[in-house]
Amino acid sequence: MKIGSIINGEEYLEETRETITVKNPYNEEMVAELALAKEDDLNRAIDISYDTFHQTMKKMPAHDRADILLKASKLLEERKDEFAETITKEAGKPLQFSQGEVQRSVQVLRFAAEEAKHIEGKVIPMDAAIGGENRIGFTKRVPLGVVAAITPFNFPLNLTLHKVAPAIAAGNTIVLKPAEKTPVSAYKLVQLLHESGLPKGALNFLLGTGKEIGDPLVKHDKIHKVTFTGSLPVGRTIRENAGFKKVTLELGSNSPNILFEDADLDYAVSSLVKGAFAFSGQVCISAQRIYVHQNIYDRFLKAFIEKTEALKIGDPMSEETEFGPMINEDEAKRAKMWIDDAVDNGAKLETGGERNGTLLKPTIMTNVKSDMKIIAEEVFAPIVSVIPFSSENQVVHQSNDSIYGLQAGIFTRDIDRAFRVADQLEMGGVWINEMSTYRQDNHPYGGVKKSGIGREGVQYALEDMTELKFYGIRLNG
Ligand code: NAD
Repeated sequence: MKIGSIINGEEYLEETRETITVKNPYNEEMVAELALAKEDDLNRAIDISYDTFHQTMKKMPAHDRADILLKASKLLEERKDEFAETITKEAGKPLQFSQGEVQRSVQVLRFAAEEAKHIEGKVIPMDAAIGGENRIGFTKRVPLGVVAAITPFNFPLNLTLHKVAPAIAAGNTIVLKPAEKTPVSAYKLVQLLHESGLPKGALNFLLGTGKEIGDPLVKHDKIHKVTFTGSLPVGRTIRENAGFKKVTLELGSNSPNILFEDADLDYAVSSLVKGAFAFSGQVCISAQRIYVHQNIYDRFLKAFIEKTEALKIGDPMSEETEFGPMINEDEAKRAKMWIDDAVDNGAKLETGGERNGTLLKPTIMTNVKSDMKIIAEEVFAPIVSVIPFSSENQVVHQSNDSIYGLQAGIFTRDIDRAFRVADQLEMGGVWINEMSTYRQDNHPYGGVKKSGIGREGVQYALEDMTELKFYGIRLNG
């Protein structure tokens, strides 16, 4: 299968273009050959997005935008198996998680269809200011223009929709640059949205690397907003390149999870095995650091190792498989080096640690130190550390001792303690009696510190994709 960029509904596949191949991370089978975009494609995609915004999208009534999104949700539901298989093939994600991703994506489209009809302004009490009598003031939320959406490899459908769906709901147009490692589900999504009635020029799709396409896209003068999900180094570059444009950055983390003595241990163990190892830990809110009260540490560790060793490892295409490969061999090698480095510095490998090609076994580490890479940096791999603690203050300090702050989990039956700790955690979100890795698509989601800027979650992304415009009227009476 060869795929190309899609500009104004037309696909560009000429033989003269440079190509990249996408291979199935599990078995190296070819998934797609990408015909890459060139600089003039980028300019054309942006010009068409700009014109379509002014001629069509900003005038399109909310009920039409909502209908397009609703139709797309129905089409996606009808084709859910095909999309799930595509994600599994391109990303190596076990099928049961790909199915979950598609189901969430259907909901994101539905939420966006609903939100499109609720973009509300406010009446301003003008007479609150001296001289404001006989004046009426109100606000409207208006679309921005052209949104550049740049996405990561790990949730190639749902994280694309977290940008594209609110942008359409708001009446913007979009230039989408998907991750070059997993662009096939986004390619199919663009076609599905066009089929749902979205004007062809409202969503343009560019295949290319971050350097060749991402960089000039972010810098372009006709882009009004950049919405990016990906790593901290790229986020930093985008922030520097974006100038005066609005920017949303959804970046990484090394999420902490805290288990107090009175935690429901069985639930915590089974949810944290999922939270640490789902999609081989390649999830931004993956449970990376598990702090366990010293009185339950031994019991937790034993049960956690047992459940981890019972994970079904294998072909991601099998519905039974719970754990599969990492995205590529380089990433698996990098993660293995981080494990070896920690062991050389005194950490203990409790289980896992073996690598075979792209597969790195689910790995649990103990006796870790705060300056080890597996603690201080985002591991983005199936590696989790279990760390004992003795006091509430100590564990709050350890959890906050990070450049990141995306989402955390606290497990305790003591509601007062839960809120006391949640209030002190420097995070964009805190779950009580749930792992850090849990996310729903309608709650505000995003980080503090170096985990990012702005919030997604359809309603919140949509707000950031509009401008607040003020209208005032002076009456003579
Ligand atoms: P990445 O940063 O390597 O790439 C993300 C995207 O940025 C790709 O499309 C890439 O081509 C593009 N890019 C690279 N250089 C660029 C540049 N100079 N200008 C513009 N675009 C450029 O990330 P990845 O490896 O695909 O994904 C993993 C990262 O994403 C992890 O750090 C993870 O935590 C993060 N992530 C965050 C969230 C969140 O919601 N906070 C969700 C998923 C993933």
